[in-house]
Amino acid sequence: MSEHIHKCISCETYTLEETCPKCGAKTVLPRPPKFSPEDKYAQMKRELKKEELAEKGQY
Ligand SMILES: [Zn+2]
Repeated sequence: MSEHIHKCISCETYTLEETCPKCGAKTVLPRPPKFSPEDKYAQMKRELKKEELAEKGQY
């Protein structure tokens, strides 16, 4: 068992296992714990998402 939450690439189930308990497919880490150069991009994406949600909220 891993200490990180993995996501099944097949059925998108979240699990701590490296294989999906539901369908047995491989799971991946949706957000790698150590990632420095791309962290800024992730932050930008989060900002964009926030703006998107704000826009939607105005309708
Ligand atoms: Zn699965």
